[in-house]
Amino acid sequence: MNSIHNVVILGSGCAGNTAAIYSARANLAPLVFEGHEPGGQLSITTEVENFPGFPEGIHGPQLIENMKQQAQRFGATYRHGRVVHADLGRRPFTLTLEDDEKIQTRTLIIATGASARWLGLPNEQKLIGRGVSSCATCDGFFYRGKKIMVIGGGDSAMEEANFLSRFGSEVALVHRSAAFRSSKIMLERAQANPKIVFIMNTVVEDIYDVSKNEVTGVKLRNVQTGEVYDREVDGFFVAIGHIPNTKPFASQLDLDADGYVISHGGARTNITGVFHAGDVQDRTYRQAITASGAGCMAAIEVERFLETEGH
Ligand code: NDP
Repeated sequence: MNSIHNVVILGSGCAGNTAAIYSARANLAPLVFEGHEPGGQLSITTEVENFPGFPEGIHGPQLIENMKQQAQRFGATYRHGRVVHADLGRRPFTLTLEDDEKIQTRTLIIATGASARWLGLPNEQKLIGRGVSSCATCDGFFYRGKKIMVIGGGDSAMEEANFLSRFGSEVALVHRSAAFRSSKIMLERAQANPKIVFIMNTVVEDIYDVSKNEVTGVKLRNVQTGEVYDREVDGFFVAIGHIPNTKPFASQLDLDADGYVISHGGARTNITGVFHAGDVQDRTYRQAITASGAGCMAAIEVERFLETEGH
């Protein structure tokens, strides 16, 4: 096993990269594991128009690359690969990589994010950023005056449908059953919105059109009547929940029922020396800027913690 690192950061989205910038500037030589989705959710968006400092907007992958270069400039090291097991029972912590390599670290920042849950349709992944999205706040603006569809029956779907109604000529909310998971107030708000059309007991069978390289419509199936039909769509928003990437820590970290890290104040987890940053803990805001802010907080806490430990 090699030397003991001061801080290892898991994840290279906004949270992980910002934690890397701050901890690198504190001379902690952070080691960042990029994870299975290097760059996190921004790497699959197109234009980011709400990250402060970019009046003309910036491409998601470019923003991520800029952050990475900024962190590297101050001495952060990036590695491909993923931690599959973490022994957080004693310090230094021992992390196991996919190829069984072991890494030791005094502190750990978990910025592994949450992955959007997708429907799993054949064309879905190919059309991400070309009409398919999982983030209304990020992409809604591109569908001004266009036909929008939202999939889901929870609070996310209601919230996204309401938000998207500011832009679209119509918003069709498609839900696979007749019962909603969403809170009453959010459902009622969506139902009262004249731009939102509810299509119940219906699933999406296909998304068109891969040959045009952009979304033009969908094939729908009513699960009660069996009726199958097409509908024109320009913006297709999947809002069926997120899955926090916390599997390697499941038995050690305090997680809520859905697997999100429970904060123990600031960026602290229940384990001394282990900190959280970004969507892995935040199920409310989930924005690039809030994830970056959380990464900054985690790095500052690491710095202070190491100082109190005499490192
Ligand atoms: P939920 O798990 O609450 O809802 C997911 C929805 O997606 C359900 O209606 C579910 O259908 C549907 N769904 C799941 N998988 C599929 C699939 N494969 N095909 C079609 N439909 C599918 O997730 P949310 O993201 O909506 O909410 C997560 C949590 O975050 C909740 O606690 C929510 O209250 C909270 N939240 C709060 C907000 C707020 O207060 N402002 C905003 C957004 C979220 P079915 O019901 O049939 O299983």
